[in-house]
Amino acid sequence: MIIACPKCKKKFDIEDSLIPEKGRLLQCSSCDNKWFFKKTIEVKKKIERISTKTKTNKIPKETEDIIIEAEENNTKVENLKKNNLPILNLLLITIISFAALIIFLDTFKIQINNFVPGFEFLLENFYETLKDFYLFTIDLIK
Ligand SMILES: [Zn+2]
Repeated sequence: MIIACPKCKKKFDIEDSLIPEKGRLLQCSSCDNKWFFKKTIEVKKKIERISTKTKTNKIPKETEDIIIEAEENNTKVENLKKNNLPILNLLLITIISFAALIIFLDTFKIQINNFVPGFEFLLENFYETLKDFYLFTIDLIK
């Protein structure tokens, strides 16, 4: 940044990093004048503007292409995850919930039978159906 000596008005180009937030004592190399320099809000804003401008200009075209490609690949991977995982998860959750429901019904089948007559018979029938289905699948695989 450009800092002007308040006494002789000579201008110096000083590295931004050399001036801390709280400011520092500077000495003019021309007239030996000493003064305390502190970045004003305006100077800070100017530095910010310059640094953001140079940042965006510094990215070369090739790097930009690589970044765009990487972002596109990232979206593709995310889409794949979105499409495949929920179906598998849903299937797994359905199977687990179904098994849990059967275990629950089987545990309380006597109590449920008191409220719903013929429930135990229904459950036995259901087991027979499952067995048939299991045998059918085994036959299909063979
Ligand atoms: Zn000076």
